Amino acid sequence: MTTPSDGVLSATPASGKAAPWPAYVTASVAWHVGAGALAIAAPASWPWALAAIAANHAALTAGGLWPRSRWLGSNWTRLPADAAARREIAITIDDGPDPAVTPAVLDLLDEHDARATFFCIGTQARTHPALCREIVARGHSVQNHSDGHSARFSLLGPKGMSDEIAAAQASLADITGEAPRFFRAPAGLRNPFLAPILQRLELQLVSWTRRGFDTVRRDPADVLARLARDLDAGDILLAHDGNAARSDDGRAVVLAVLPQLLARTRALGLVAVTLRAASQHGDGAETTTSPPAQSESA
Ligand SMILES: [Zn+2]
Repeated sequence: MTTPSDGVLSATPASGKAAPWPAYVTASVAWHVGAGALAIAAPASWPWALAAIAANHAALTAGGLWPRSRWLGSNWTRLPADAAARREIAITIDDGPDPAVTPAVLDLLDEHDARATFFCIGTQARTHPALCREIVARGHSVQNHSDGHSARFSLLGPKGMSDEIAAAQASLADITGEAPRFFRAPAGLRNPFLAPILQRLELQLVSWTRRGFDTVRRDPADVLARLARDLDAGDILLAHDGNAARSDDGRAVVLAVLPQLLARTRALGLVAVTLRAASQHGDGAETTTSPPAQSESA
């Protein structure tokens, strides 16, 4: 299935070229106006006008509940084409930092000479600031995964959503000395308010190509199979150091999965880099547009 590409925003909001709202949301507003006009012009048609509005709301909700959709604005499900041409992939590790898991993840990444992106939760980062700094000092990247990782994130209004993202942005910039450039929504769930907030904060939304479901799946072989299926250049993979499920030996699943995933990566001639590195062109300039719409594979 191919997603619409008309809702894709520039990854550089400061350029001024991007519209504040995704085209799909603008179209929804027009849809409402049209339905209202129909009900006024032909009062007997009001059930049809109401049904049209309900259908539109259902579509917007579906766009927010489908983490890899681009209906609600720009959303990286794969790396930009330049990065894929360089045989790069991005391993992203969410919900930390967690002192029980993250240090071992860092050691495994070092052993395999791999770099990763950690989507950190603001409250976790403030509780473990030294660990956050160590992630960056060891060559990885810390990015924004909201302040509290609320299960209700996708139900927040514009102010609540903006506060959640801005609080994490301020904390992570303060702790690491580097303002995040990428945002991932808790559980990947969103609503139409998110795109203009990310644009204002100059953040690019990132979801994933494939995820291991390693917060609920306890079998490392199962998680590895999900992540490594059709592994290829440009992939963005999602695993967890925080909220991680434990395998039978009591260790976080990601610790059993990473060595094999990184060995597979190397065997395929792929290199694991940070999202920040993947967004650089060969000449060092940052990517200014989102990657083209990709066919869905997961
Ligand atoms: Zn998360």
